[in-house]
Amino acid sequence: MKNLAVLGATGSIGDSTLSVCRQNPTLYNVQFLYAASNVQKMLALCIEFTPQYVALANTEASAQLNKQLQDHNLTCQVLNENDVLALLGSEQIDSVMAAIVGAAGLKTTLAAVHAGKEIFLANKESLVMSGALFIEAVKASGAKLWPVDSEHNAIFQSMSASLQETIGHCDLKEAGVSKILLTGSGGPFLNKDLGEFSDITPAAAIKHPNWSMGPKISIDSATMMNKGLEYIEAKWLFNANKEQLQVIIHPQSVIHSMVQYQDGSVISQMGNPDMRVPIAHVMGGEKRIKSGVDNFDFFSTNDFSFVAPDFNRYPCLKLAIDACYQGQHATTTLNAANEIAVQAFLDERISFPAIAVVVEEVLNQLTPQKISTIDELLLIDKIARQSAADIINRGITC
Ligand code: NDP
Ligand code: MG
Repeated sequence: MKNLAVLGATGSIGDSTLSVCRQNPTLYNVQFLYAASNVQKMLALCIEFTPQYVALANTEASAQLNKQLQDHNLTCQVLNENDVLALLGSEQIDSVMAAIVGAAGLKTTLAAVHAGKEIFLANKESLVMSGALFIEAVKASGAKLWPVDSEHNAIFQSMSASLQETIGHCDLKEAGVSKILLTGSGGPFLNKDLGEFSDITPAAAIKHPNWSMGPKISIDSATMMNKGLEYIEAKWLFNANKEQLQVIIHPQSVIHSMVQYQDGSVISQMGNPDMRVPIAHVMGGEKRIKSGVDNFDFFSTNDFSFVAPDFNRYPCLKLAIDACYQGQHATTTLNAANEIAVQAFLDERISFPAIAVVVEEVLNQLTPQKISTIDELLLIDKIARQSAADIINRGITC
């Protein structure tokens, strides 16, 4: 049995991961659970999975959890932030589900990478931010990287074993890959009148037509910033250049992405849109395991379509693709400004179209910079968050 750490255990990916654990009780020992502040959910998970270690990033919540665990006579040890990083680097953990949302996941994901662990990567923002540094660390430590994001998992599954083994430094040309085709549903506003975008409410934007996900990624899917972040993620995971990456809208979310080869073959992975599928794939490793998801019923769909993305409808996608080729300072800034803008939209402080306006304005203030350390990235992240907050506080009319 492998010892598993679930980072972001109380979230949507955390739920799906633990559901796959329930389906396959002899594969993983749930050794460590980590989240931010959800005491009640974490307590319930501790009662069910009895991990040896548990942590909540919020210190007040952590103290409450400690007390509740004692009241329930549970012996899980509650760790502080430094202990978390040490645990992730220790022999007590074999595999790490990196599923904290946003830049908050960077430190823990990188700690697991540096320690050479088996990493199930859901936290795309950490790779978007740290790109080259992340991949260099994977190479140096020998960490085994498994993409959880459904598109990247589909691409991974559509690749030969030799490409899968060289994740982070794939030679796509040598392997005869002509293009990676990254599919996305287009979100809930694919056919909405552009003139009505200012009236979009958080409740409407969160309601994804096909996937059930956490709030931040749901908004990112509606703006297609999510596909932009995934474009950057794909560049790093598969060492792809501009000519080798293409975004295609596929509203039904049955094909989860494709790889096109130079002989004209296109290989894809398909299935119901449920994250337990890619999670079971990475957790099973060489072996196919149960996910609890039904087989896809091909007779349930009477349409299977593909559309090119329109950047007027999805300006965030364009901003992300452009940032991808500007460098880490730009992708870190894009990610940070987006996190602030999405939260402001969820808090009803800005309109839906203003998300892209905030991100663009913050990017426009940027001066090119070469990044060589994580501390430099964290500083850029901080400055971008402040710039985005200033722009929002000044007020945006759109
Ligand atoms: P959720 O919002 O549902 O969950 C986020 C999790 O992160 C929660 O457990 C939360 O804890 C925890 N968390 C937040 N901040 C911190 C912190 N500072 N320290 C420790 N834990 C923290 O997000 P999702 O599960 O939807 O997404 C997680 C990641 O997976 C994201 O990077 C997303 O892009 C990626 N992803 C998600 C997909 C999906 O279908 N949901 C698909 C593909 C990728 P708490 O509950 O206590 O706040
Ligand atoms: Mg995805």
